[in-house]
Amino acid sequence: MKEGNFLDRVMEFEQQLESMHEQFRELIGFVAKMTEENHSLQLENHHLRARLEELNEPKQSSDPKRNPEKVKKVDIGEGVDNLARIYNEGYHVCNVHYGSSRKGEDCLFCLSFLSKQNA
Ligand SMILES: [Zn+2]
Repeated sequence: MKEGNFLDRVMEFEQQLESMHEQFRELIGFVAKMTEENHSLQLENHHLRARLEELNEPKQSSDPKRNPEKVKKVDIGEGVDNLARIYNEGYHVCNVHYGSSRKGEDCLFCLSFLSKQNA
């Protein structure tokens, strides 16, 4: 192989790498978007199931087990979207504990996540 050919092929290879890198970044961006969407859908699904169970259960306010502790409302801002609503109803919307009950406590991960959503 002559030196010139070799350099040409190296440069060609470099261009291919750059092109692949670009495609890779597009894919990663797509995956990130889908993951976020999936996360939101899972949360909403979880929330809807919980609601459905509530509706199917007969109301027995005298039973302490059916009296979940009061959910503390948090003012997150004007943009009250589904996630903020789910948060206010007592569930985590952060990546760390998402879908689980906040047990009445505020979560910094959730609040930071929500403030990013509303920005
Ligand atoms: Zn959280």
